[in-house]
Amino acid sequence: MPVILSPRALHRLESRHPWIYKSDIASLPDEVGIFPLYAAKDRNQNVLGYAAVNPKSEISVRMLSYGPEAFQLENLLDAVDAALAYRESLAIEADSYRLIHAEADNLPALIVDRYSDYLVMQSGSAALESVLEMIITRLVEKLKPKGILARFEGQNRKLEGLSQHKNVLYGSVPEQIECYEADLSYVVNPYEGQKTGSFLDQRLNRERLGRLSWGRALDLFSYHGAFGLHMAKKAGEVVCVDGSARALEQAQINMSLNHFDHISYHCDNAFDYLRSISHERCFDTISLDPPAFAKRQKDLDNAFSAYKELNLQAMKCLQTGGILATSSCSFHVSFDDFMLMLQDAAADAQRSIRVLGRYGQAPDHPEKLGFPESSYLKCVFLQALD
Ligand code: SAH
Repeated sequence: MPVILSPRALHRLESRHPWIYKSDIASLPDEVGIFPLYAAKDRNQNVLGYAAVNPKSEISVRMLSYGPEAFQLENLLDAVDAALAYRESLAIEADSYRLIHAEADNLPALIVDRYSDYLVMQSGSAALESVLEMIITRLVEKLKPKGILARFEGQNRKLEGLSQHKNVLYGSVPEQIECYEADLSYVVNPYEGQKTGSFLDQRLNRERLGRLSWGRALDLFSYHGAFGLHMAKKAGEVVCVDGSARALEQAQINMSLNHFDHISYHCDNAFDYLRSISHERCFDTISLDPPAFAKRQKDLDNAFSAYKELNLQAMKCLQTGGILATSSCSFHVSFDDFMLMLQDAAADAQRSIRVLGRYGQAPDHPEKLGFPESSYLKCVFLQALD
């Protein structure tokens, strides 16, 4: 059976959203693969484009190309080359960054992150599983990595009916990789770390905050202390708070690696920690980088309450002239709503606060127009005026 799209799907296709849901598809083949797409009731049978198709997944169609021209597997290799050339052109001041950002690099559901001489991959399209070998060969040819690790885990693969595994695909990959970001060193565990090992999307925001830091600094939801390290360059004292003791152990290793001795670590719930600070205006620089509170649309109300509570308390803790870099990585929270929440928090904290900058993901994590899911990170730099 060919892939035949309903009128609603055509609208999505025209808006260049790269996913089409099963409910908007009139007919689907029985097996996974790369197939041409047709519109329902089109007597001329014009090919609208080609897609990676999985009849079992709710996201049944992942667009690969538009128009009638036949899709060649070689196109995927061209996309890999283009992705690498773009990262090269960014002249990134780090040896760890995203090389392939899925749909925004025309490689659906494929993530490739570089950590020094090693690559870590995530993949979540059943139809593209069979072409991964070819892509890996290209990556090896071009980048000559010492090893490639597959982190083929998580909900996205389950939804595609794909197996869960974590294995070395090429060479060998150590449990600890030492990397650098600007003038700082840090260690990543690619097997166990969150995402592919680290939060590469915040790289430029960390560097920005590093430049503006002063006085007594707080890194809330610190994970491996990456914001804290950048703040430590200028701040006299840094306090890192995270709920995970393991994450903080790694953060301490990172502190030693950079020969800092003015960072302290507290394993605590960030909400409790903020409430426990008895005196107001006790920090001069704060990073607030919580996990995604709104993983689904229906979490939004609770998520906003949580963001507001954290930001309100953080604003109360801020010294006059102090800087707060506040983030949200929930795609469902729009930039506008995030700004409104901050405005509310500032009003409740009875502080006058100015906005120094509104930022998103670093450019090695590009966003694709028409694909709002590819723009998820918000990081707003605030300064207390009174
Ligand atoms: N700022 C980090 C990334 C933070 S990821 C960086 O730039 O690398 C989010 C972190 O929040 C995780 O380390 C997780 O352990 C921690 N966390 C989640 N819920 C928490 C809570 N309620 N209190 C404290 N830490 C929490």
